[in-house]
Amino acid sequence: MKYKRILLKLSGESLMGSGQYGIDPEMLQQYAQEIRAVIDAGIEVAIVIGGGNIYRGVQAEKSGIERVQGDYMGMLATVINGMALQSALESAGMYTRLMSGIKMEQVCEPFIRRRAMRHLEKGRIVIFGAGIGNPYFTTDSTASLRAIEIQADVVLKGTRVDGVYTSDPEKDPSATRYSELSFQEAYEKNLNIMDMTAFTLCQENNLPIIVFDMNKPGNLMQILEGEQAGTLIN
Ligand code: UDP
Repeated sequence: MKYKRILLKLSGESLMGSGQYGIDPEMLQQYAQEIRAVIDAGIEVAIVIGGGNIYRGVQAEKSGIERVQGDYMGMLATVINGMALQSALESAGMYTRLMSGIKMEQVCEPFIRRRAMRHLEKGRIVIFGAGIGNPYFTTDSTASLRAIEIQADVVLKGTRVDGVYTSDPEKDPSATRYSELSFQEAYEKNLNIMDMTAFTLCQENNLPIIVFDMNKPGNLMQILEGEQAGTLIN
């Protein structure tokens, strides 16, 4: 296997499946299967899940809610998703821990780096909820930061498309996919891979990012086996 410890970033929106809001149980089951294969191969898995299927801080101002308040609402949304994912993974026979960037001890453990690493060594899947616990950040930045902290080998960003394209493949039929890019190229070409905070954290810490299609069955495992089924930024 190319990587021993991975950080998988899943967007909240991906949990909606074909719905417009909330959590589709079929998506949870599908993700649990994909992750099961990775755990069975002996890879250590940490997950950051977004909250966009429930709430995003940027929505707040439009509805008269203060931005910071909205960001905390978004962070809480990621905990709801984390709990749902945790249940799905446990139902599929995996061991998990949910760690939160905001203390909520009845629900999950607080994020403690050393403890997170110990869980991973023991084969438990660690889900990081509540982002980094601060407003004005995203779960992409959380993914980069936590990956660096736990010394993950790679950030795998699961999306609806199978990588980074020259232009939006959903709008431009002539768009082509990059199989590999340097951070510098991605920056110069203004390719929207992650927000700048997240992107810069990875670049400065030499942490590769792979953008791939999480909804294609077996794809996650194939990438970990070394197949070029996404875009590698390093
Ligand atoms: N958020 C935050 N700080 C963090 C992580 C998330 O304030 O460290 C808030 C922010 O409002 C964000 C929301 O939580 O919009 C949900 O996360 P995100 O938008 O990244 O979810 P995704 O797009 O991956 O579903």
